[in-house]
Amino acid sequence: MSGAPITDPDLAALAALSARLGADRSLIQGAGGNTSLKRGGAELWVKASGTWLAAAERQPIFVGLDLAELRRRMAANEAEPAMPARLDPAGTLRPSIETTLHALLPHAVVVHVHSVNTLAFAVRRDGPDLLAERLAGLRWAWVPYAKPGLPLTRAVQERLEGAPDVLVLGNHGLVIGAGSTEAADALLAEVERRLAVPARATPPPDLPTLERLAARSAGRYRPARLAEAHAAATGPASAATAGRGALYPDHVVFLGPSPLPVLPPDQAEPWLEAATAGADMPALLLVEGSGALLRADLGAGAEEMAACLGLVLPRLDPEAPLVFLSAEQEAELLDWDAEKYRQSLNTAEQ
Ligand SMILES: [Zn+2]
Repeated sequence: MSGAPITDPDLAALAALSARLGADRSLIQGAGGNTSLKRGGAELWVKASGTWLAAAERQPIFVGLDLAELRRRMAANEAEPAMPARLDPAGTLRPSIETTLHALLPHAVVVHVHSVNTLAFAVRRDGPDLLAERLAGLRWAWVPYAKPGLPLTRAVQERLEGAPDVLVLGNHGLVIGAGSTEAADALLAEVERRLAVPARATPPPDLPTLERLAARSAGRYRPARLAEAHAAATGPASAATAGRGALYPDHVVFLGPSPLPVLPPDQAEPWLEAATAGADMPALLLVEGSGALLRADLGAGAEEMAACLGLVLPRLDPEAPLVFLSAEQEAELLDWDAEKYRQSLNTAEQ
């Protein structure tokens, strides 16, 4: 589908930047991340929930909101402040879950990415100390992990002293604020340059083994289609780290709760044959030294998150003090009550 061309030059510039960032898997995976523009100071144009930044120049992905009304509803502590503040209440696009974060920040342009370089720091207990060195001279702040949406907005609100332009979100990603699209682009590039972490070399996947295992699963799994994903399983330290838990929210939302099965090749075949069919089957299996198998019914969003894992894990020092999302944090991401969560853990461990 192609929407009406964007005629506003500021929105067109935001769409161009969004499309470029969205095409870079080291910054954006699937529907993750979001961008916004405060147009004339009165309107907030923000990415719609579920849309891909990569599509910004091909289809309408931005939703317009009345910024003053949105901020008034936020100040009144409304539970759903964004939807009633839309400029077009009949529109079908829902504003991003992070709309309140975009409205909170004073910058004309706000860019939120799930940068794999930033994540390499944001998942470490000593992340704030390491970042203090790398980001020296920039106005930046560390924001402890909070559930995406209003809880994250509140956590950011407590960190705005010093008017930061760069927010590193613990176990989540990066937010950049600037006075223009051009300036946001430049600041993001500067932060990425400072936080660049080389990925450890990982052996290539063993595709024949993965194809053989997929066949054993009676079509329930297939080799991951994006090449990056396999690095999550071919580096021994990477697979072991993956088996310890989830490191950021979209992993849980798209690939399900921990633990992610990490299987030695000789155990993968019996595991696949014994696994019962059903939606509760784990989304992703890592076959150590061979590569990643994805549940065959899953789509592009899960492929992107498997690739994200394959980009993040080889950037982590296996000796580093890593912080994983807690069982409670995973459960709240899935909107599960504690009991359902425990049941899921039992299923996954069978
Ligand atoms: Zn995010």
